[in-house]
Amino acid sequence: MYLTHLECSRCGRGHPADRPQNLCECGAPLLARYDLAAVAAAVTPERFTLRPADLWRYRELLPVADPRHVTTLGEGWTPLLRTPAYGARIGIPDLIVKDEGLTPTGSFKARGAAVGVSRARELGVERIAMPTNGNAGAAWATYAARAGLGATIAMPLSAPTICRRECLAAGADLRLVDGLIGDAGRHVAELLAESAGGIFDAGTLREPYRLEGKKTMGYEIVEQLGWQVPDVIIYPTGGGVGLIGIHKALHELRELGWVEDRLPRLVAVQSTGCAPIVRAFAAGEDRARPWTDAYTVAFGITVPAPLGDELILTALRDSSGTAVAVDDAEILADLRDFAAVEGLLLCPEGAACLTAARQLRAGGWIRADERVVVLNTGAGLKYPETIDVSAVPLV
Ligand SMILES: *Cc1c(COP(=O)(O)O)cnc(C)c1O
Ligand SMILES: [Zn+2]
Repeated sequence: MYLTHLECSRCGRGHPADRPQNLCECGAPLLARYDLAAVAAAVTPERFTLRPADLWRYRELLPVADPRHVTTLGEGWTPLLRTPAYGARIGIPDLIVKDEGLTPTGSFKARGAAVGVSRARELGVERIAMPTNGNAGAAWATYAARAGLGATIAMPLSAPTICRRECLAAGADLRLVDGLIGDAGRHVAELLAESAGGIFDAGTLREPYRLEGKKTMGYEIVEQLGWQVPDVIIYPTGGGVGLIGIHKALHELRELGWVEDRLPRLVAVQSTGCAPIVRAFAAGEDRARPWTDAYTVAFGITVPAPLGDELILTALRDSSGTAVAVDDAEILADLRDFAAVEGLLLCPEGAACLTAARQLRAGGWIRADERVVVLNTGAGLKYPETIDVSAVPLV
């Protein structure tokens, strides 16, 4: 294993990686650091081609030492689909969708859960707990079951019932909260305080390894494009873990010398019903203020106060990217258009990225000749309410 230590994303302080860790004393998330010179000496990009089609193909850049602790359901290596018909409609011929809807548990949260649970198990954790908008809890409950760990999951009452079912099916201790993810977070904080160390806090960015799972989307995009970076990557941003992860992956690949120096411009997409990052980005602020009365059909991005706000804003500025808020009615209209033209049913979060691509192209921020990758972060089938069947005639 090439993992050397953890580094605070704000104060830079180093922390040992050989025991379960949460936030730095300063309150910021920790980032996993590797001996990249040793990785570059041990493996070349060509070698990955010969490996199994899952995210563990990047094992030198992942935090699990013993293969026996790898907890997998075959996550990763999702298709990068060219979508020229829809692309032509919106003036981006080289539009590409990375379809995370094919990931186990129906969302890319499985990447974070696979790596996070595997490492937690390796470090001797016996039970994890987390607040969730639905998909993360479903994924962590599923992988925890597979690893033989306990899982306590706190979820808003308004989260999709499919995610509740997944948690129960996996034998998790599911808590429903009448409120938003922040309220679920307060419930988990109480449980953790009572448990006096018996439960590990696996909340978004509160442990360092979920990010490591999600960063593999960045490696895959680059490898699937023949070790080339696209011009723009558009990401539906809630907690921002995927965006921060892709940014981290791109920097690691640059340091390894496996890609050119240019970074793709990263775009954070939020809903106008919950857009703390867009507001902070537009105001030139380093931190985001909590959003009140958050609501959007794209439940995965309903995060009024993301813990990783600084990291998200840094990734956007460092890559000359931007942040866009799109409206729910447009998200749903684009979701339906796209399904009819390309035959792929996106999740609303993924469709939000299409809306953003369309608007950024119309405003000239994306040029016609640019290669644009959109992340479809979950399976459209998890959101049956996006397609209205009430008008279908009975024959
Ligand atoms: C969680 C989630 C997101 C947001 O992911 P972050 O990395 O936390 O920003 C986007 N889409 C779906 C479907 C999700 O479940
Ligand atoms: Zn710190």
